[in-house]
Amino acid sequence: VQEFGIQEALKKLGVEAINNGTSTGSNNFSSGGELSSYSPVDGALIGKVRTTSKEDYEKVMEAANNAFKIWRTKPAPQRGEIVRQFGDKLRELKEPLGKLVSYEMGKSYQEGLGEVQEMIDICDFAVGLSRQLHGLTMHSERPGHRMYEQYHPLGVVGIISAFNFPVAVWAWNTALAWISGDVCVWKPSEKTPLCGVACQNIAVAVFKENNLPEGISCLINGDYTVGEFMTHDKRVPLVSATGSIRMGKIVAQAVAARLGKSLLELGGNNAIIVTPDADIKMTVIGAVFGAVGTAGQRCTSTRRLIIHDAIYDKVKEAIVTAYKQLRIGNPLDQKNHVGPLIDTDAVSMYQKALKKVVEEGGKLIVEGGVLEGAGYESGCYVKPAIAEANNNFEIVQHETFAPVLYLLKYSGDVENAIAIQNGVVQGLSSAIMTNNLREAERFLSAQGSDCGIANVNIGTSGAEIGGAFGGEKETGGGRESGSDAWKIYMRRQTNTINYTTDLPLAQGIKFDL
Ligand code: NAD
Repeated sequence: VQEFGIQEALKKLGVEAINNGTSTGSNNFSSGGELSSYSPVDGALIGKVRTTSKEDYEKVMEAANNAFKIWRTKPAPQRGEIVRQFGDKLRELKEPLGKLVSYEMGKSYQEGLGEVQEMIDICDFAVGLSRQLHGLTMHSERPGHRMYEQYHPLGVVGIISAFNFPVAVWAWNTALAWISGDVCVWKPSEKTPLCGVACQNIAVAVFKENNLPEGISCLINGDYTVGEFMTHDKRVPLVSATGSIRMGKIVAQAVAARLGKSLLELGGNNAIIVTPDADIKMTVIGAVFGAVGTAGQRCTSTRRLIIHDAIYDKVKEAIVTAYKQLRIGNPLDQKNHVGPLIDTDAVSMYQKALKKVVEEGGKLIVEGGVLEGAGYESGCYVKPAIAEANNNFEIVQHETFAPVLYLLKYSGDVENAIAIQNGVVQGLSSAIMTNNLREAERFLSAQGSDCGIANVNIGTSGAEIGGAFGGEKETGGGRESGSDAWKIYMRRQTNTINYTTDLPLAQGIKFDL
């Protein structure tokens, strides 16, 4: 690992061997137990983080609430200027942070850099937005009245994130929350706590340089019980939670019980429809990257290929051939296409899925398996697998967070493929490969894909900052990042001003005294 410069990266990011996992800014403390972070790349201990106790959490909430009182009074464009500086710091530290993401999470170095680039992009987006937090003006039905709406900061935004995007998801939320005038408390995944420490250090440097108060960016660490501090806390008006559907159902109910708002970004079961008019070369690139990129651990990873029977054999052969060229190994080595899974629990889930698909009547056409020997000592490296299956198999209905691709066959009209695509509980990302305008438009129409993301001649994986990101059904319905996703981080107020000496009532109601 030394040869990939990990120690140097950790130093540049201010990540120590043992870190306080609770931070309100320059003030770091922690009285909880220790969390060890092992790299899935080589199994080595990278560092430790002390977790957040309930008492620590109370201190965080106090600092966050105090900071909010100051931060909300800064004009939004001034808050944007701080986010601009934060984006610049990310530019400076892109390489070490990208490296840590790769080493702690296991995605390729290129994808680690890509994740940091997403953080930079959302900062740029947020800076522009800080001058555009528009409300509408409406015509009042009453004479001499003016009516308009404005958006105000909400308060403390709680962010709970998943391991697979250990830095970008935090930035998607914080960049928009900060320009909105909110303060943030982040609980990163317990599987990637050092990425959390590194990001907090970067943010803190900017807030400190600008003499801003403690508490605008806070960090807490630990397992789900630490996340629960926030979901049950009325002082947190918005909880943004990214992770499994199982987690989302628990979080949504806890937040709803106190009538708080939640923004949920949960699991996907994403499919590409391959029609007889598809460009096969593009289909292969889109499907293979979608299925094996990040070792199948993206929420938008391609899990299902729904192929027309007229071209089924041709597509199957092309994909199987492409899989033979995949190189699996250390993700910091840019020769490799596929890195490890996050941990050995994920490896067991992968093995169970392969067993289950066969039990249910599926056929493995690319066998898969766990890799052993030199370079694979962490026990987290698996071979991407492909199975021919049926959409109603229980295992196909389920998101297995690993590189397992299911081939499903359809015949006749594209409507049949759309029915299969929509025939799962998740609704995140979807795609169609076709040069047929009618099929493409049908797929995008009201009778088409029921997902939050629907692409034509692009795979399911990856998205740009400018669009709103998220999914329907059990994916949770939340939207983050671009478009008008910022609105959830603010509270909307409708204002009516009477500039006459009369007091007419709405709806023409008479009330004479
Ligand atoms: P996970 O659900 O195990 O954990 C996610 C986070 O939730 C962690 O920080 C965890 O500590 C916390 N958590 C778990 N239970 C909680 C509870 N009861 N209360 C409060 N916090 C709780 O997910 P994971 O394994 O880290 O990530 C993989 C999952 O995330 C996949 O399903 C993937 O599709 C999904 N994901 C979705 C998106 C999206 O934008 N839709 C993005 C990334 C990942």
